[in-house]
Amino acid sequence: MNPQSQIISNTILQKKTQIIYYEQNIKLVEQQIKKLKKELFQKCNHNWVKDWEDRSCHSSWMCEHCKLYKNPNYNY
Ligand SMILES: [Zn+2]
Repeated sequence: MNPQSQIISNTILQKKTQIIYYEQNIKLVEQQIKKLKKELFQKCNHNWVKDWEDRSCHSSWMCEHCKLYKNPNYNY
C-alpha cells in the first residue's frame, strides 16, 4: 500500500472506531430515556385520553400531560 492509501485506510479505521463509540453512547442515552419514562409514568397525574393516531389499527390510551401510553409496553 502506498503512503497515501495507508493514511486513508487508517482514517477509515478511526472513523469505524468512532461509530462504535457513538453507538454505545446512543444505547446509554436510550437507557436513560427508558428510566426517565418509567419515573415519569409513576410521577405524572395522568389524564388518559384516546389516542386515535396510533400506528396500529386499534386505538390506545395516552396521557395528555406526559404523552405516555397507558399500556407500559407501548412506551419502550
Ligand atoms: Zn401522564
